[in-house]
Amino acid sequence: VSFGYEDVAPDEKTARVGGVFSNVAAKYDIMNDAMSGGMHRLWKDKFVSRVKPQPGEAILDMAGGTGDIAFRMAERGADVVVADINQDMLDVGIERAMDRGIDGLSWSCQNAEELTYPDRQFDAYTIVFGIRNVTFIDKALAEAHRVLKFGGRFFCMEFSNTEWSGFKEVYDLYSHRLMPQIGKAIANDEDSYRYLAESIRRFPKPPEFEAMIQRAGFAHTKVESILGGAVNIHSGWKV
Ligand code: SAM
Repeated sequence: VSFGYEDVAPDEKTARVGGVFSNVAAKYDIMNDAMSGGMHRLWKDKFVSRVKPQPGEAILDMAGGTGDIAFRMAERGADVVVADINQDMLDVGIERAMDRGIDGLSWSCQNAEELTYPDRQFDAYTIVFGIRNVTFIDKALAEAHRVLKFGGRFFCMEFSNTEWSGFKEVYDLYSHRLMPQIGKAIANDEDSYRYLAESIRRFPKPPEFEAMIQRAGFAHTKVESILGGAVNIHSGWKV
């Protein structure tokens, strides 16, 4: 299992990912703006417009962190559970929700690979910039399928290394040199951001990831690429 530039045991990866997000939790939101030049807000708006949350729907926002996706879905009237393996990220999210006066959310500490929910609970399952951190991606996809109702939908947004010529070089330079430097300057944490950049490089390419989603049992899968494939929205249905 990969972690940054080394290979580590699966348990160790889960523990280290925990450390990364505990380190970055307090600065996570400001870092997202700094790293993406504010673009992550537009990608998240687009993502939620694809999910089309309906009033009263039960949605599980997995790896929901500090709530960016959940807030957007709750504003459309959905009943959202924000689940994340890291309580520090959830705590920042709970505080943000209070500051913004957003109700209708519940927060739960969960490992995506082993959810505590019974089968067929949710109308939709979302996971944004989270699945590449999960040690056993197949397990997380199987769990997503299990907790969805029939007719439920799966939506995932994730980074990928783009093959777009010209852009690829700029992007590689950005993610491997600039990202850790920004991490150092703002959060005094170069290593966590080096890990985050490296985890993008190691994540399966969109066609490979789409095949994994299909193997988990999802039908009518689709990929929508943004920024020449640097960001991809994957979707599928439980039928
Ligand atoms: N979805 C949020 C967003 O877009 O702002 C947060 C994304 S953040 C980059 C990734 C999140 O995945 C972190 O909060 C981390 O704790 C969580 N995570 C990592 N491994 C996980 C796992 N196995 N189960 C659940 N959450 C996990």
